[in-house]
Amino acid sequence: MSARIIDGKAFAAQVREKVAAHVARLKEVQGITPGLAVVLVGDDPASEVYVRNKGKQTLEVGMNSYEHKLPAETSEAELLALIERLNADPEVHGILVQLPLPGHLNSDLVINSIDPAKDVDGFHISNVGLLGTGQKAMVPCTPLGCLMMLRDQLGSLSGLNAVVVGRSNIVGKPMAQLLLGDSCTVTIAHSRTKDLAAVCRRADILVAAVGRAEMIPGDWIKPGATVIDVGINRIERGGKKKLVGDVHFESAAAVAGAITPVPGGVGPMTIACLLANTVTACCRANGLREPE
Ligand code: NDP
Repeated sequence: MSARIIDGKAFAAQVREKVAAHVARLKEVQGITPGLAVVLVGDDPASEVYVRNKGKQTLEVGMNSYEHKLPAETSEAELLALIERLNADPEVHGILVQLPLPGHLNSDLVINSIDPAKDVDGFHISNVGLLGTGQKAMVPCTPLGCLMMLRDQLGSLSGLNAVVVGRSNIVGKPMAQLLLGDSCTVTIAHSRTKDLAAVCRRADILVAAVGRAEMIPGDWIKPGATVIDVGINRIERGGKKKLVGDVHFESAAAVAGAITPVPGGVGPMTIACLLANTVTACCRANGLREPE
């Protein structure tokens, strides 16, 4: 193995420390405690774990956490009414609706009913537009975490060839926008891309956000490239349950310059960025200096 392993867990701990320090100052100097409301509809076990972790970490950095667990059969009108209440609540600076929502609820409608200033996931169409036009936006947490790790590893990203595999609204597209914002030459690949191997081999920065276990082998990776593996795939190997990424870690680590592991790479950074976005939203709402 030659690649540097990018320790997302340690990096996320640093981000959380900075967030906690900022929260402490907000409380002491301004008398304001940032608050994050998380809305979970239904009882999807993976979503329940994510929501629990978010709530726990929100409290750990000194912020207020408001969890709203609604039954799977909640109507759209009920959910929209809750969001309206949270939009109007001055104690709530960030609102996150855990996705996926049950099938009878229109996710676009629900997300776009969140006040864009409180949309700490950065999925509201206003924030998508602001990001796409290079204006101050709430930036989606997973791509933001990836960008922070890339900057930390590489310094300037200017002029580098970046390939993002995956074009979802929550990871692939905003990731590509952020890389473009940092002056990378960006290619977005997806399930219809021809000769994906050749496209990946051109990448100085390869971001995999597909959701297919270990689909990118080491021989698709340019020697020395920086590889960010967003994928979280649950597999069974040798009778044991295991989490793996979209990149085949062993073979990729032999070629890459740096690589994120799964678990312990992108995942922890996502929640840390959610906390950071909540503090940013709180500062903006109160006309205060934002954390850097
Ligand atoms: P989506 O399913 O929404 O998108 C997957 C993308 O991968 C699509 O654009 C799809 O292309 C593309 N794709 C599928 N198969 C192939 C293929 N064979 N070759 C090339 N491209 C392909 O997933 P998400 O973006 O929501 O998530 C991606 C992964 O990241 C998942 O494993 C998810 O669990 C993980 N994730 C991790 C997070 C974290 O915090 N670490 C946060 C969010 C997601 P097309 O559009 O053509 O169908």
